[in-house]
Amino acid sequence: MPLVYVCPECREEMIVSRRHRGTDVPCPGCRESVSVPKNLAFDSLTRDAVADRRAGYRLLLVAAAACVLWFPIIPATAWFWAVVRIRRTRDEGRTVPEPLFMARTVAATAFCAQMAYYIALINHLETYMDPGVFSSW
Ligand SMILES: [Zn+2]
Repeated sequence: MPLVYVCPECREEMIVSRRHRGTDVPCPGCRESVSVPKNLAFDSLTRDAVADRRAGYRLLLVAAAACVLWFPIIPATAWFWAVVRIRRTRDEGRTVPEPLFMARTVAATAFCAQMAYYIALINHLETYMDPGVFSSW
């Protein structure tokens, strides 16, 4: 059964088969020689690929929710798990599904936006809150 393997250099997808395990294959994208992992698990690959994709959609959902729920800990957590999952998927020689990259991007964007908002809010409060307002009560 041929499989899609992604070039670690340029992320171009290429077709490999069992006999390519542990050998170097030229990448169709960047022409670099790519080592196909010797332990590339062909049998479990499909099941794991489905799990990767599911994890991607789950994290994307959390990241999307983080755009509505305004707590920076949510996108920060989603970003962290997306990064961990992307790394694990690559380490195990599988194609990283697009939802995982999207989840990472959305989570990082939501986190930065929320932090910028809170920093601006704190600055605003420090500037406009006159301590005299409270002491005169
Ligand atoms: Zn390449």
